[in-house]
Amino acid sequence: MIPLSKVVVDEQTEALVLQTLRSGQLAQGPMVERFEQHCRQMAGTEFAVAVNNGTTALELALKVANIGPGDEVITSPFTFAATVNAIIHSGATAVFADIDEDFTIDPSLVDAQRGSATRAIMPVHLYGLPADMTTLDALAQQHDLRIIEDAAQAHGATINGQPVGGSDLATFSFYATKNLATGEGGVVTTNSQADNDRMRVVRNQGMRARYQYEEPGHNLRMMDLVAALAISQFEQRATMEALRRRNAAALTEGLSGIAGLALPFEPPGRVSVWHQYTVRITDESPHHRDAVMSQLQAAGVGCGVYYPYAAYDYDCYRSHPQVRWQPCPVAERAAAQVLSIPVHQHLSETDLDVIVTSLRRILLG
Ligand SMILES: *Cc1c(COP(=O)(O)O)cnc(C)c1O
Repeated sequence: MIPLSKVVVDEQTEALVLQTLRSGQLAQGPMVERFEQHCRQMAGTEFAVAVNNGTTALELALKVANIGPGDEVITSPFTFAATVNAIIHSGATAVFADIDEDFTIDPSLVDAQRGSATRAIMPVHLYGLPADMTTLDALAQQHDLRIIEDAAQAHGATINGQPVGGSDLATFSFYATKNLATGEGGVVTTNSQADNDRMRVVRNQGMRARYQYEEPGHNLRMMDLVAALAISQFEQRATMEALRRRNAAALTEGLSGIAGLALPFEPPGRVSVWHQYTVRITDESPHHRDAVMSQLQAAGVGCGVYYPYAAYDYDCYRSHPQVRWQPCPVAERAAAQVLSIPVHQHLSETDLDVIVTSLRRILLG
């Protein structure tokens, strides 16, 4: 089976993890500082606050933005549940604006959903492709809104040459299947000194110095042992991105020209880091997405649906008092049509050939 994602721990990582183990410093310490330094570099920001996962990173960002009950946060309905959960746990109301054909939130529909309670926009850089931050930044500026980028899937993706994560607040995940993976892990990036300062305090029980509590905080700390897992990956990020880009190009070349198969694309200026390569089996295809998925799996090609439903199609969100939604037809269509196939950096030429040949055979045969 060609897996959809693969974790490979190199020797440099093994050595650094062992060194960390032997140092006796398991909890947050110097390795987390190194991790944060790499995150600042990746996002081009002045500050980065490491936390224990990508969901708590979102929660911390919402907290430091002072978003709570009565406030509205506009986000995409076509995302992982963590995006919506974080908003709900902050006490705010999640408001959905539909996506565009590129799978990211449509700025004009964000504007249409904007109201007097709107405090923030939470765009999701889905599959590694940045949302249209140029337009969203301008909208936020004009209406005095905060931006919290959910960049869980988009480490190092760029817009007009600028890395994602520098608009205002942004969060990244280091879950095992992400482009940079430590099993669990997260970070919030920002250029605000005040936000950075407060997030460091909140992360550590609200403590500035030992037993000096400034506010009721949390324990969101990352382990040094976990941070050590990421260092070599940061150092090899350019290679990883180049390989994913090469693989995406190979898939696009091999799969073009099939009726009813729509391939992913990068709008001008927005460069994907190809977390997923996601095709759509459109209405013009004689095949149904779910059938294509099982046939592809039977052919030994790992694949998956991210995500099978718009967020508001789940009862727990649809009927939630902190969710405001109206139908988002583009997201619903995407949910019915998308299929992600392997694009990661560990694919061989043979793997790529098997993926292309199998999918072509299923769709054309
Ligand atoms: C993975 C992911 C998260 C959550 O990150 P965890 O580290 O798993 O908590 C949030 N948003 C999106 C879009 C994700 O893909």
